[in-house]
Amino acid sequence: MATLLILFAITLICHSAEPDGVIVTLEKYDGPAVVSVKSLERFKIKISIDRKTDRKALTLAVQLPKTGKNTWPANDVEAIDSSGKAVIVKRGGIAWSMMWIPVPAGQSEIVVHALDPPEGTPKNHPEKERHIKDPLTGLSAKIALWPKGKKAALSLRFDDSHPTHLSKAIPILREYGFKGTFMINPDGKNGPPKNSRWRSAFKEHLTEWQAVAKRRDQEFGNHTARHSGAKNDAEMENEISDACEAIWQLFPAKSKLLALNLGGGTYWETSKTLRHYLDKYHLFDASSGSMGMDDVYGNRVESFRKHVEGHLKSGAWCRAHFHYIGDNLSTSEEHFRAALDIAKKHQDDLWITGMSDIYKYQAERRAATLTLVKSQKDSVTLKLYCPTNPELFDQLLTIEIILPEAWMTSSSGAHVTDADENLIATGLPSKDGSRLLRFPVLPVNSQFIISKFVMKVAF
Ligand SMILES: [Zn+2]
Repeated sequence: MATLLILFAITLICHSAEPDGVIVTLEKYDGPAVVSVKSLERFKIKISIDRKTDRKALTLAVQLPKTGKNTWPANDVEAIDSSGKAVIVKRGGIAWSMMWIPVPAGQSEIVVHALDPPEGTPKNHPEKERHIKDPLTGLSAKIALWPKGKKAALSLRFDDSHPTHLSKAIPILREYGFKGTFMINPDGKNGPPKNSRWRSAFKEHLTEWQAVAKRRDQEFGNHTARHSGAKNDAEMENEISDACEAIWQLFPAKSKLLALNLGGGTYWETSKTLRHYLDKYHLFDASSGSMGMDDVYGNRVESFRKHVEGHLKSGAWCRAHFHYIGDNLSTSEEHFRAALDIAKKHQDDLWITGMSDIYKYQAERRAATLTLVKSQKDSVTLKLYCPTNPELFDQLLTIEIILPEAWMTSSSGAHVTDADENLIATGLPSKDGSRLLRFPVLPVNSQFIISKFVMKVAF
C-alpha cells in the first residue's frame, strides 16, 4: 500500500507532465509558467500551474490515455477548479479523451477526475457467472454470446442523414435484407452553410425519412440536431435532446434507447460529463471503435473483409461506418455493394443489425447471471438474473442448453417451461446426436425448468 501511495504521489514538473500516462501541457504557450501534475488516486489528478510572472488566462491541454491498463473512462471525466466547481471543458465530438481546460487569469489549480457511475447502475458480472454445469444430470447452460448461434455482431452506420441514404443506402440494404443505423441530424438545415456535412437536409426529406421509420426495418441514431457542436451546457443539452425528441416521435412505441455520435469535426464545451447526457437521454456512446468506409482511406473492401473476419474469430462487435453512397461520393455504390457481399457471405455467423440492438444484447448479457436453483434426475431449474431496465433494454437474450445424454434417447426428449409452466422450447433427439437446445428469453429476472419427457408412442 505504501509503495502504491508513493507511486501515486510522483510529481513531475516541467512544461508537460505525464503521471499514469495522462499528458498535460499548456496549449500554444511559450511563456514562463510551468505545469506540474500529481496523481491523487486512480482516475484523479491535480494539475498545478506555477505561473512565475504570467497572470494571463491560460488553456490546459489534457490527453487521457485511451488504451492500455491506464485507460481512463473518458465519458465520466470532469474538471473542477480550486473551489470545487465544475469548469467548462472543450472536447472534440469523437475524441472525448482530449480535454482543453481554460484557466482564468490568476488561477493556477485544476483537478481532473472520473465520477463513479450513478447509484443503481447495473454492474457487469464475470463471464463464468453466465455458465452452468450441473454435476447431477450433466446438463450445461449458458447465456449465448450472441443470438441464434451467431459468432459475432456487425453494425453498419450511416452518418449525417444524407439524401443518398434514402436514394441508395436504404434501398440497397433492403435488397440484402440488412438493417443499418442512420445517424440523423433532424435540424441539420440550420447548420453552418459552408460545410456540406453540416447541412443534412433532413427536413427537406422528412416525408421519406418518416416512411423509413414506419417500416421499422432500419434504425435511427442521434447525431445531434445540427452537427454544429456547442459552446455551453444549454446548447449541448439542446443539440442532444432535440435530436432525441425527433427520433422518439418517429418511433413512438419503441424503446427510447438510442446510439449517440456527436460527430467528427465538431467541438463541445460543457462543464458536465458525457455520461450525464448519455444517462439523462437514454443514449450510449457510439463514436469509437468503428472502421471508416470512405473510399478516400483506400483499399476499403479488402480492409472490411479483414475487419469482419477478425471479429468472427474474436466474437466481438464489428462496426463500420459510411457517409454518402454513390459515384464520386464518399463510398462508391460498387464498393458499398462489395462490402455488403462480404457481410452476406458470412451472414450465417454474423448478427447483422442495428447498433442499439447489439448494444442492448451486450449490456443485458454483461449484467446478467445464470444460476442453478434445483437439480433432480429428470429436471433442472435455472434462474436468470437480469437487472437492466426492461423499458429500455428489450432485446431478447438467447439461452443455450446442452441436454444430458440420458435424456435424449430415441424414446425421450426434453422441454423447457417458464415458472408458470408455459412451454418455451422442446428438444428432440436429432440424427446427428446434437443435444443443443437454444431459445430466446426476455431480459428480466426469471426461472426456467428443463425437464426430460418420455414420448408417447401411438399404436
Ligand atoms: Zn457526422
